[in-house]
Amino acid sequence: MPLMVDTDAVVIGAGPVGLFQVFQLGLLGLKAHLIDVLPEVGGQCVALYPDKPIYDVPGVPLCTGRDLAQLLLTQARPFLPLDPVSGGCEQIHLGQLVSQLQAEADGRFVVETDQGLRLRARALFVAAGAGAFVPRTLNLPALEGAVNVSYHLDDATVASLSGQHVVISGGGDEAMGAVLALAALPADRRPQAVTLLHRRDQFQAEPALDAQVRSLLASQQVGLVVGMPTDAAVQDGRVTALSVLGPDSVARDVPLDHLLVRQGMSPKLGPLSQWGLDLERKQVSVSAATFESSTRGIYAVGDINTYPGKKRLLLCGFHEATLAAHAAAAALNPESPQHLLYTTTSPLLHQRLGVHQGH
Ligand SMILES: Cc1cc2nc3c(=O)[nH]c(=O)nc-3n(C[C@H](O)[C@H](O)[C@H](O)COP(=O)(O)OP(=O)(O)OC[C@H]3O[C@@H](n4cnc5c(N)ncnc54)[C@H](O)[C@@H]3O)c2cc1C
Repeated sequence: MPLMVDTDAVVIGAGPVGLFQVFQLGLLGLKAHLIDVLPEVGGQCVALYPDKPIYDVPGVPLCTGRDLAQLLLTQARPFLPLDPVSGGCEQIHLGQLVSQLQAEADGRFVVETDQGLRLRARALFVAAGAGAFVPRTLNLPALEGAVNVSYHLDDATVASLSGQHVVISGGGDEAMGAVLALAALPADRRPQAVTLLHRRDQFQAEPALDAQVRSLLASQQVGLVVGMPTDAAVQDGRVTALSVLGPDSVARDVPLDHLLVRQGMSPKLGPLSQWGLDLERKQVSVSAATFESSTRGIYAVGDINTYPGKKRLLLCGFHEATLAAHAAAAALNPESPQHLLYTTTSPLLHQRLGVHQGH
């Protein structure tokens, strides 16, 4: 049985709204753990539009999706402290899908992830967007469990690709970004060969990315295979080649050392639909005053919720997270009502934020 960690709150989803939820809970003195199935924080902003501009966040005339995620993480950092030894944060759990939720007799909730993490909280915040982002796959049963197939280009994956023949599958921004990232590595860390695999000789990427990849293809620094993968050869748990059906209806083997599938992400509501919350068209129904769901103590904020007048905008999610935090704090501490405090003037909030007055 995995260890149980007790905390005030668990926030499911480290998208922009989940990050701001942690910040608002922290201001109210509530400690939160944050979980996301993705390997980095930022939700849609990072998974779907990292380099695109956002113009309508109050007080931020222009930032990219990735900028916003970083700003929100920095803002929440006082409540997600880094361990000086490991450099990580013990309250952030990435690459983990929240798969189970149970209510205990005393009103607390136990959430469990697919990696065996168990957290027990007095309040639960579902900031799950359109659901857990999972990478689109090639739909080839032979690839299941193969150790040399990856879907994210994190530092560990990049390090493992040195000297390898890497096949990158996809034709959008994610695939082009991966091609460019690998091509830009210093020679001693670069793969021995990179082949882009796409079903047709036209990409759906940003024009700037498209142009850079075309230039690498023209100079033969990167290879291109056009066609549909129909099967995979697997030996000792490793994919050794893909069988690709070309536009000429001829199947060819594409040998490889590592397969990087970069075909974008799709959100899956998944386990959330089985947690007994009232749903309306796959959204969690909430009160527009407290953002509490049909289950007491479970709040839903951001794109995952619905209520009269709901707009799926960042600004609305931030408002919801603020009111949900206040509602939860009041419910958890009914004896000591929370007075509204300003971050500008409150010594208590300065103490919680770890700032000195006037700074
Ligand atoms: C192309 C595009 C452009 C946009 N531009 C704007 C804009 O200009 N202005 C604006 O206001 N809004 C914009 N939006 C909308 C905005 O991005 C969303 O409103 C916002 O991302 C919602 O944040 P969220 O935190 O609720 O959900 P998300 O960003 O979807 O994050 C939810 C997170 O929860 C995780 N998750 C879900 N279920 C689980 C689970 N069971 N276990 C673990 N993790 C889980 C997911 O992996 C995800 O990371 C845009 C959206 C898109 C797609």
